[in-house]
Amino acid sequence: MKYYILFGPPGAGKGTQATTLRDNFHLCHLSTGELLRGEIAAGSPLGLQAKALIDAGNLVPDEVVEGMIASKFDTVKGVEGFLLDGFPRTIAQAEALDKMLAERGESVTGVVSIMIPDEMIKDRIRHRASIEGRADDARDEVIENRIRTYHAKTEPLIGFYKASGRYHEVDGTGSIPSVASRLSDLMKVL
Ligand code: ADP
Repeated sequence: MKYYILFGPPGAGKGTQATTLRDNFHLCHLSTGELLRGEIAAGSPLGLQAKALIDAGNLVPDEVVEGMIASKFDTVKGVEGFLLDGFPRTIAQAEALDKMLAERGESVTGVVSIMIPDEMIKDRIRHRASIEGRADDARDEVIENRIRTYHAKTEPLIGFYKASGRYHEVDGTGSIPSVASRLSDLMKVL
């Protein structure tokens, strides 16, 4: 099985690209953001706990997302691998992922990082807000907190994965199909 991590700042286009990559490589696309929004929509206890944190632009606790991912690894069948989107987002989650996969005799295939300049992040999120209406896209202060959280807690993962030779970058600027083909070309050789 392949275990790809789709990495990048909020608004880099992970969700957009994930659909194409999922189809091209016969993967299960696992987006922790989408799973959490599903819990919120369903009004589950987990959703209630997550909503206030997400709406403020903060991360939900590591154990919550780790549990969601582990249960998908155990239940999703009939795919050639997984495309992780939005997970891991902290060093603790990355360590938990390595452990989870080792317990299943598997390992991370590679991290593919979509790089866009900071000034493009806000433009893309504002554009998405007008289409998808996500609560956490609506307010500038929340977007700014998410960007801060990304730099503080998620960006250190770059060094973590570089140290083990699993980190790869693609240019995330340009058209959606051109970014998709850069990502596909890279994933083919991992
Ligand atoms: P974006 O990539 O635009 O930040 P996501 O849909 O990936 O959007 O995530 C939305 C929110 O869900 C995050 O801001 C965070 O609050 C929560 N979330 C998603 N994934 C994780 C994770 N791995 N760990 C903690 N919180 C998460």
